[in-house]
Amino acid sequence: MKLMMLQGLEGRSNNVVSLLFDCLNLPCADLGLDSDPLLHWQYHPDKYVDHVVLGKGPPGGSWQAMDGNVLTISLSRWMELPGMDYRSFGGGGPPTCRNSRASVASMAKYYSEYVKLKRLQENFRCGTVVTDVKPLANDQWLVTGVEHAGDEGALDMPFHYVTSHLVLATGNYDRPNKLKVPGDSEPYVIYSLLELERMVKQNKLSEHSDPVLVVGAGLSAADAIIACRFHGLPVLHAFRRSSGDPGFVFRQLPENMYPEYHKVHQMMTDGGNSYKKYKSLPEHKIIEIMPDYKVRLMGPGDGGSAACYVIKVSAVIALIGAQPDLYFLPQSGVGLGVKKDLPVASRSNPIEVEPFSYECTEAPGLYAIGSLAGDNFVRFVHGGALAFTSHIHKQLSDCEASAAADEAVEV
Ligand SMILES: Cc1cc2nc3c(=O)[nH]c(=O)nc-3n(C[C@H](O)[C@H](O)[C@H](O)COP(=O)(O)OP(=O)(O)OC[C@H]3O[C@@H](n4cnc5c(N)ncnc54)[C@H](O)[C@@H]3O)c2cc1C
Repeated sequence: MKLMMLQGLEGRSNNVVSLLFDCLNLPCADLGLDSDPLLHWQYHPDKYVDHVVLGKGPPGGSWQAMDGNVLTISLSRWMELPGMDYRSFGGGGPPTCRNSRASVASMAKYYSEYVKLKRLQENFRCGTVVTDVKPLANDQWLVTGVEHAGDEGALDMPFHYVTSHLVLATGNYDRPNKLKVPGDSEPYVIYSLLELERMVKQNKLSEHSDPVLVVGAGLSAADAIIACRFHGLPVLHAFRRSSGDPGFVFRQLPENMYPEYHKVHQMMTDGGNSYKKYKSLPEHKIIEIMPDYKVRLMGPGDGGSAACYVIKVSAVIALIGAQPDLYFLPQSGVGLGVKKDLPVASRSNPIEVEPFSYECTEAPGLYAIGSLAGDNFVRFVHGGALAFTSHIHKQLSDCEASAAADEAVEV
C-alpha cells in the first residue's frame, strides 16, 4: 500500500522515504516552484530519544571541510534544516535569498548555528573520532574512539559507548580518489581545493608559476579551474573524455543558474581560446608523476595513435571523486553494501538499508543515512533521519510496554 502511494514520485534519491519526505517538504521544487511545505513541525518533548552525536569537526559535516568561497549547487532553501529559515540566521553574508545558491561558508555557518539555536549542543561531542565499532552479544554495539584535547600539549581522551542503536552518517568524502599512478603521493600532488587555496596563500603558486595541472571533468575540477582563474594561475586541464562528449555533468545544469560552470565547459570544448592561461587536454591520461615537477601524460597523437609526452607543472590537483572511510567497522564495512563482496563506495555501492527504517539489511541495530545510503543531497537526508528515528522510537516504546506488562504480571 505504501509503495502504491509512492508511485509517480520522482527525485534524485532511490530511497522511498527520502523521496516522499522531499516531495512533502519541497513540493514541486524541481519544477522551479517555491511552494510552502506540506509538513508542519511540532515539538514533542515526551518523544525524546536519548542520543549523542560524535563527529570529527563542528556540526555541518563535510560543509565545514570544503572551500567556503565555492557556491552551492542547490538553492539555499533546499538545504535548510527543519524549523529554521536560511534567511533568519543572517550570519552568512550575501546572498541571503532562499531562492538562489549560497556560498559553502554560509551553509557551514547555518548548520553550526542551527545546533546552537535549537539548543542541541548538549547532544554534540565535536572533535571526536570513532576508531572502532564492534558488535556485542545482546544485539548491542561497542563504539570506541578518541576525543581530541582542545589545548596544545593535552592528551587525547579515549571514550567508549555501548548502544543498541548506532547510526552511521559519516558521509562519502573522507577518502579522495587517488590517481593510482607512480608518484601520485608526491608533495605537489593535491586532492582538495582547500589545499590549492593554502598553496596560493603560502605563495607556493602565483601567476608566474608553471601551470597547475587540473585532473578531472566534474564540478569540483571546474571549481578548481575557476579558483585558478581567479588567482591568475596558468592551467592545464586533463580529462579522459573527448571535448564534445555529451555526458559532461555541466549539460545537466541550466545555464542561467550556473554560468560559471558553463564558462568552464566552454573553455573545455574550445580548448582554451577564450582564456589564454587555460589549455584543455581532452582524452588524456596521467601516466607518471616525477619528483622534479614533471608529469608524463598520454593523449591522442597525430594520426589517431596515442602519444606520450612530459610537461612541467607547479602542482597537480586531482578532483576525481571520493570514497567513504569505514575503517572503524568490522571488515571496514565490506558486506554492508548493495554489492556484498565489494567495499562500500559512493554512488556505485551505497550501504543497503531497509526502506522504511534505514536499518542496515546485514546488521540489525546499525543504521545508515545520508550519502552513505545513497542520499547525496541534503534535502534527502531528512527522510533517512525521520525513518530511523521513528523505527528506534517504536522499538523503545515496545520495550517499555513489554516491561510494564511484565511488571503488571508480577504484581
Ligand atoms: C564539493 C561538494 C559540494 C556539494 N554541494 C552540495 C549542494 O549544493 N547541495 C547539496 O544538497 N549537497 C551538496 N553536497 C553533498 C553534501 O555535502 C552532503 O549531502 C551532505 O553533507 C550530507 O552528507 P552526510 O551527512 O551524509 O555526511 P557529511 O556531510 O559528509 O558528514 C560526515 C561527517 O562525518 C565525519 N566522520 C567520518 N568518519 C568519522 C569517524 N570515524 N569519526 C568521527 N567523524 C567521522 C566526516 O569527517 C564528516 O565531517 C556537496 C558535496 C561536496 C563534496
